[in-house]
Amino acid sequence: MRLSKTFVKTLREAPKDELAKNGALLSRAGYIHKEMAGAYDYLPLGIKVIENIKQIIREELNALGCEEVLMTSLQNPEPWEKTGRFSDQEVDIWFKTELASGGTLGLAPTHEEPIVNMMKSYVASYKDLPLYVYQFQTKFRNELRAKSGLMRGREFLMKDLYSFHASEEDLDSFYEKVEEAYTRIFKRLGIGNDTYKTFASGGIFSKYSHEYQTVLPVGEDTIYYNSDHSVVLNKEVYNDEVLTDLGVKGVEFAETTAAEVGNIFKLKFKYSEPLGLKFSSEDNESKTVYMGCYGLGVSRVMGVIAEKFADEKGLVWPESIAPFKYYLVGIGENGIKEAEKLYANRENEILFDDRDVRPGEKFADAELMGIPYRVVISDKTLAEGSAEITDRRTGESKLVKLSEI
Ligand code: ATP
Ligand code: MG
Repeated sequence: MRLSKTFVKTLREAPKDELAKNGALLSRAGYIHKEMAGAYDYLPLGIKVIENIKQIIREELNALGCEEVLMTSLQNPEPWEKTGRFSDQEVDIWFKTELASGGTLGLAPTHEEPIVNMMKSYVASYKDLPLYVYQFQTKFRNELRAKSGLMRGREFLMKDLYSFHASEEDLDSFYEKVEEAYTRIFKRLGIGNDTYKTFASGGIFSKYSHEYQTVLPVGEDTIYYNSDHSVVLNKEVYNDEVLTDLGVKGVEFAETTAAEVGNIFKLKFKYSEPLGLKFSSEDNESKTVYMGCYGLGVSRVMGVIAEKFADEKGLVWPESIAPFKYYLVGIGENGIKEAEKLYANRENEILFDDRDVRPGEKFADAELMGIPYRVVISDKTLAEGSAEITDRRTGESKLVKLSEI
C-alpha cells in the first residue's frame, strides 16, 4: 500500500472525548475513526489488523472441524422469549426497534437463541452430531459505560462458536480441544504469555466456566493467581469454597487487573431444552442436545494488544497481526528509486511511505503506526549496497544488503 494513495492521515490529536489509550492511538495512527462512544469505523489499516486476527482464529477453529457461518443481527423475539432473555429485566443491554410493519426486533447481543433455533432444521438424529459452528459477527450491546476504546464497544466484533453433542463426554472432550485451540490462538496473537485461563462461575449446568484474561493495567476485571499461574480465578469465584474445591486453600494468591478476551462455557441443556433442540438416539429415544459456547472478542483483542504493547512513540504490533510487516522509506533521488524497486510486487507486505514529506515525519508515523520493521534506503545505506532495517519493538537497527532483502 502506498501512503500517498490513501485518504487516511495520521492525526496529531486524538478525538477529545477519547479517554482510552488504545482508542486514542488507533485513531491518531489512522486505524479507526470514532463515531461516538462505543462505535468506531475501521479504516483500511484497521481492517487489515481485524482480518489478521480473524484468520488466526479461523485457522485454529477449522483445524478442529468447525464450520463458519454468518448469521443475521436482526432478532425475532420469539426464541428469546422461550428462554426469558428478551426481557430488559433479564438482559439489560438490548438495542430494540419497532418494525414499520408492526412488532419489535432486537439487535443481537449474542446468538445462542437463534443458532439453537436454526439447528432445529438440521439436527434430527445422533448421526447429525457432533457439530461445531462459528461466525465472526457484529454484536450490539447497550453498554452503560463505553469508555475503553475498542475494548468495550456498543457495536463490536465477536467470534462465537457453538458446539452440539449427543453426550456429555463428547461435550467435555471438545471443550478441552477448544481450550487448546484458544491457547494456540492467544500465543499466535502475541499475548500468550500474559493471557490466563481463568476459573469463572458456571451457572446452573456446570461448576465452572472459563474466561481468558489478559493482564492489563487498565483492564476492567480483577483476577487472582498463584505463584506459577497454574490456578487463576476471577472475582466471582475467588472465595474459600472454590479455593477448597480446587485444592488451593491456604496458597498465596496475588491480585491484578485484566481484560477478558474470551469466555468458554459448557451450556449443556441451558438453551437446547427451552428451545426444544432434540435428536433421536441410537435406541430411537428422543434426547436433548448437549451444547457448549465459546466467545472471543475480536475487536476487544485488537484494543487490548494496541493498549498493551504501545510505548511513548505509538503502537507496537506483533508481527502476526500487523497490517504490514515493513514500513518503507526512500530518502533522496537514489533512495526513492531503490525503494520503488523493492516495493514492486510486495504491496501486501510493505507500507510504502512515498509521500512528499520530510523523512522525520515519515519516521514519526512509522513509529506511531507500529509497523514491525522500518526499512530506510538512502545514499548513506546505498554506499554499503544496503538498506537500514529498524525493529519497532527493540529500536535496534542493522544494515542488510539489498540483494538479501
Ligand atoms: P464483559 O464482562 O467484559 O462485559 P461478557 O461476559 O459480557 O464480557 P461475553 O458475553 O462472554 O462477554 O462475550 C464474549 C467475548 O466478547 C468477551 O469475552 C469479550 O472478549 C467480548 N466482549 C464482550 N462485550 C464486549 C464489548 N462491549 N465490546 C467488545 N468486546 C466485548
Ligand atoms: Mg458484558
